[in-house]
Amino acid sequence: MKRTTLPRMTASATFGREPYVVAAAGALDAMPAQPARRSEPVDHPRAEGKLIARIEQADLPEGVPLIISKAGDRMAYNPSAINALDARLAYNIYVDFTEGQQIDGLRELGWNAKDATSRELYATVLDKIDRSGDAPGVIARVVELFGQARAEADAADARCPRYRWCTETGKHAEHTGETITATCQDAYGDPVLHATLMHWDDKGVRVGLLEHDLTPDEARTTLAELRAHLDAVEKLIDAAEAGE
Ligand SMILES: [Zn+2]
Repeated sequence: MKRTTLPRMTASATFGREPYVVAAAGALDAMPAQPARRSEPVDHPRAEGKLIARIEQADLPEGVPLIISKAGDRMAYNPSAINALDARLAYNIYVDFTEGQQIDGLRELGWNAKDATSRELYATVLDKIDRSGDAPGVIARVVELFGQARAEADAADARCPRYRWCTETGKHAEHTGETITATCQDAYGDPVLHATLMHWDDKGVRVGLLEHDLTPDEARTTLAELRAHLDAVEKLIDAAEAGE
């Protein structure tokens, strides 16, 4: 693109560390317009009182990140000097413009973004729109990508399809259930008699009890032994109460 000598003025705001130098109004009028783009806005209610802007990327002289046409309805910026979001925010200092509801919405979201990552995201989307000239296409693709990300996140949160007792979510090969303990504690304040279900290999479901991984049959045997033991403990209590 042909480089012209441009008069300059300094923007009244800074984006990032450097105050941006913006070429004076009128400088852009010397530059040929880019071919028609699909991102060019059409009339819509919100355009009332605002200039319908045409924004494009351009190879501008060193130190000039963006230039604005005399009428203010056209802005060109150098994407290697200023990103698509900051260029719009700087332009907005001079001109109350609209690019149509969708792109205006992206600009507003970028302006209100709380963190650098979100700002970068909106800057990237706007950059893709400016590069492709296809705002509806880019926005549709972004919506689709967000939908996919949401679906993947939902799948990651999905409950185990194999076992009702399994607390693992998403894709997993080792199934583990919730660990339960007796409501009483030992003298150290630790819970006792941990028990859980698991299925970690091809041996089937195991019952975790007394630090063993037991088959259901083995677990029943152990439980019977524990019950017999508790009966024996109860006999000790009986003896204590009898005071004999
Ligand atoms: Zn599972």
